[in-house]
Amino acid sequence: MDFNGYLESRLEDIKRKGLYRKRFIVPENLIDFSSNDYLGLKDCEETKKVLCENIEKLSLGSGASQLVSGYKSIQKELEDFLSEFKESEDCIVLGSGYLANTGLIQALTEEGDIVFSDQFNHASIIDGIRLSRAEKVIYRHNDMNDLEDKLKKSSGRGKRFIVTDGVFSMEGDTVNFPDLKFLADRYGAVVILDDAHSTGILGNGKGTIFHYGMKPDENIIQMGTLSKAVGSYGAFVCGSRTVIDFLINRMRTVIFSTALSPIQNFISLNNLKIMVSQPFRREYILKQSEYLAENLKKLGYNIEYRGTPILSLMIGKEDKAVRLRDLLVEKGIFIQAIRPPTVPEGSSRLRITISYRHSKEDIDYLIDTLKELRDKL
Ligand SMILES: *Cc1c(COP(=O)(O)O)cnc(C)c1O
Repeated sequence: MDFNGYLESRLEDIKRKGLYRKRFIVPENLIDFSSNDYLGLKDCEETKKVLCENIEKLSLGSGASQLVSGYKSIQKELEDFLSEFKESEDCIVLGSGYLANTGLIQALTEEGDIVFSDQFNHASIIDGIRLSRAEKVIYRHNDMNDLEDKLKKSSGRGKRFIVTDGVFSMEGDTVNFPDLKFLADRYGAVVILDDAHSTGILGNGKGTIFHYGMKPDENIIQMGTLSKAVGSYGAFVCGSRTVIDFLINRMRTVIFSTALSPIQNFISLNNLKIMVSQPFRREYILKQSEYLAENLKKLGYNIEYRGTPILSLMIGKEDKAVRLRDLLVEKGIFIQAIRPPTVPEGSSRLRITISYRHSKEDIDYLIDTLKELRDKL
């Protein structure tokens, strides 16, 4: 069997559709407008310094899964910090957001349950539902009427879950959480809230629930990643003591995966403390995001500020988005083109993210460059 020949023909298909991807090491001299390092913490000098001072005390690896012997005091400290920060009873830290969502949904659901999921939820949520035996019901993006219709129509004796991103990773908009939670309570559903992009940004950095002046309760599970605004790596799930206890016993991505390195957890904890004590980082990026969107809109671009540092410059055609990306690279700017299957066909875009690393001059340079390139498209 010519297996490699077969894969090559599949790759040819992908290329023909304009969907071929390559990894790209963004050169140091390009201004990176594509990273999720919103608060500029991935290169935090303060944390680097404290890490050097403590490196002797830290193991390089955890050595085992959490339930064997990989659970260390630095992880417990990180979990305690996150529990308090998210105002929840308990917390578990694990490998990544992808592992959190896939493990969480699979662990909590069983045959006969129904998971209601926003159309634009992150791929890790979709994969989590696929791994579970629960029935999946997709509702239109952030459409609470559609969600209610679907809750009403569904029957069965199983448990119900509503799972949603807090801030949607590609659109940069925020879930209508008050209405969603109202429906969840009315129809007896548990809410799984993915605060990957909300943590550090919304609600004074505490996340989506706090953005709306609401409080967590035992029927809300908050997850988030430490790899975006926190600038580290790993993820967390916050919830009631019972939920976390159950996850420890049932979540396969915790049980069968090695615990994070103590060094990584140390970095997360330090960056979190800096994130909380330096609100000016968040304030700066939100102001700059609004400024950028307003100026690009004036130039005739299809872009909207939605209260987050994620700005989708809508282009449409796959090849056009790729061309704009390449033209920007020539000008010293890197913005990745986002294409299907990450976004629906014909809605290819340049996903611009603003970071605390960007100076006002960087942002003005982006505006000037896009002004210049507008007519070349
Ligand atoms: C990035 C992301 C994840 C995955 O987190 P990782 O730590 O990168 O694996 C999960 N959910 C959402 C909404 C995300 O944007």
